[in-house]
Amino acid sequence: MTPDLTTLQPLRPTLYRLAADGRSLDFLFAQCPQCRQLSFPANAPGCMHCGHAIDASAQVARPGGGTLLEYVTLHVAMVPGLSAPSIAGDIRIAEQVVEEGVIGVADESLLAPGMALRAIAVPLPSGEHYGCHFVPAGAQGATA
Ligand SMILES: [Zn+2]
Repeated sequence: MTPDLTTLQPLRPTLYRLAADGRSLDFLFAQCPQCRQLSFPANAPGCMHCGHAIDASAQVARPGGGTLLEYVTLHVAMVPGLSAPSIAGDIRIAEQVVEEGVIGVADESLLAPGMALRAIAVPLPSGEHYGCHFVPAGAQGATA
């Protein structure tokens, strides 16, 4: 079953939104008017690189994804609705910006540090929202 993700709302609308393909996610960054670097999340009060003040006009959307730095399998559900075991990872989503995310693969053997990941929307059990999973950039959205 592939629900129509365009009918769902993002669980974290300040962080990401559905991309034009209806499956991938765009991440919402703030691009600093001073140093041009990206900060995340976009609603931060100042640039995380140089401290320059940023406001809503600095927001830019970029294809969600990044580089997998490290990961760990979690054997208990951290969040209601998240299945266990699941894999959490640190992903560098922009220069000097590292976020923790859920890796949507069946097991760690499919992962390696340094691999490219992309962010996809996954429907949540509520039936109203989608969340964010990272999958290997080459995969066609297969997710646990
Ligand atoms: Zn800056």
